[in-house]
Amino acid sequence: MSDIRNTKVLIIGSGPAGYTAAVYASRAMLEPILVQGMEPGGQLTTTTDVENWPGETEIQGPDLMINMEAHAKAVGTEIIGDLITDLDLSERPFTATGDSGMIYKADAVILATGARAKWLGLDSEEKFKGFGVSACATCDGFFYRGQEIIVIGGGNTAVEEALFLTNFASKVTLIHRRDELRAEKILIDRLMKNEKIEPLWDHVLEEVVGDEDPLGVTGVRVKHVTTGEITEIPAKGVFVAIGHAPANELVKDVLETHMGGYVVTKPDSTATSIPGVFAAGDLTDYKYRQAVTSAGMGCMAALEAEHFLAEQE
Ligand code: FAD
Ligand code: NAP
Repeated sequence: MSDIRNTKVLIIGSGPAGYTAAVYASRAMLEPILVQGMEPGGQLTTTTDVENWPGETEIQGPDLMINMEAHAKAVGTEIIGDLITDLDLSERPFTATGDSGMIYKADAVILATGARAKWLGLDSEEKFKGFGVSACATCDGFFYRGQEIIVIGGGNTAVEEALFLTNFASKVTLIHRRDELRAEKILIDRLMKNEKIEPLWDHVLEEVVGDEDPLGVTGVRVKHVTTGEITEIPAKGVFVAIGHAPANELVKDVLETHMGGYVVTKPDSTATSIPGVFAAGDLTDYKYRQAVTSAGMGCMAALEAEHFLAEQE
């Protein structure tokens, strides 16, 4: 038989939204349980320098998340290393099932499952994933010391990854489908000044090419978006940095979503269409998707859960 844990507030996710919700819910004496999922600390554990977290001119992403976890623990949150595989929101208490076999019964749920890297969907990308194709420069950049690397994308992540990869690579080609980056100006400035980075505008990835035995990338075939001309570029690593999609698998059939799967919340609120279920952070935010905005929504979710539970009593 499965073990059952009862809690007033179950927080699902351990990024800035989840940990901030945990701090506020703990300080409201709600004794929350936080389930971390398969990426304890969330997306910021996949980056290096974070330069826009107020109070820290510069801090490493993983360090910031260790600090947040310690803060949540210090104020009394029970943090559990488990993955929620099923969530039944049809009646209260809500029931979440963990991969560990644990059943969590909760009077209120805060969803803070964030977002995950998007892929291009090419067969060759799939084939070489883990063998030269990656979506995490911090995790895999070290393997490409002295090599040529490709980065795909034109947002903050792509530019940051390209800059970071110059620590290892002999050359980084940033391939973008337009001729204008959507990254912040300060990052674009750094990119343009970096002699190791060459932008390739108006191109899309057609195919990752490589060796079979051992499996490994040797280059890419890219296509010009207007002329259709194909060019081959040699590279040992391909980093796909084309954005993130909300991790909505647990709720996409029961909660309203919009703008490509982001959970809808009431205006100026984290309340979802189910009373007692709140959503915070990148799971709901198609617009800002920042650590500080996620943390702000985590705070709101905990305060709103507190009011909801008080009203039920
Ligand atoms: P996430 O950080 O995405 O965390 C989601 C959490 O949910 C994870 O812990 C995961 O394990 C958990 N989870 C998911 N599914 C389940 C499940 N089924 N059961 C249990 N748990 C689950 N923002 C900035 O402000 N500054 C930056 O410098 C910056 N740099 C970035 C660099 C990179 C490379 C990336 C990818 C993003 C960056 N961002 C930055 C954006 C920032 O990381 C996100 O906005 C923020 O992490 C979102 O927080 P979150 O709490 O909503 O979710
Ligand atoms: P993003 O801002 O959504 O940018 C995605 C990029 O990939 C865009 O340039 C897009 O091109 C391109 N793209 C998307 N689909 C593509 C496809 N199929 N083929 C080719 N190119 C494709 O995603 P992100 O850069 O991961 O950033 C996500 C969020 O995290 C943002 O809100 C960002 O501000 C935040 N973040 C912040 C920081 C920071 O503050 N330092 C760092 C990283 C991320 P188009 O431009 O043509 O649409």
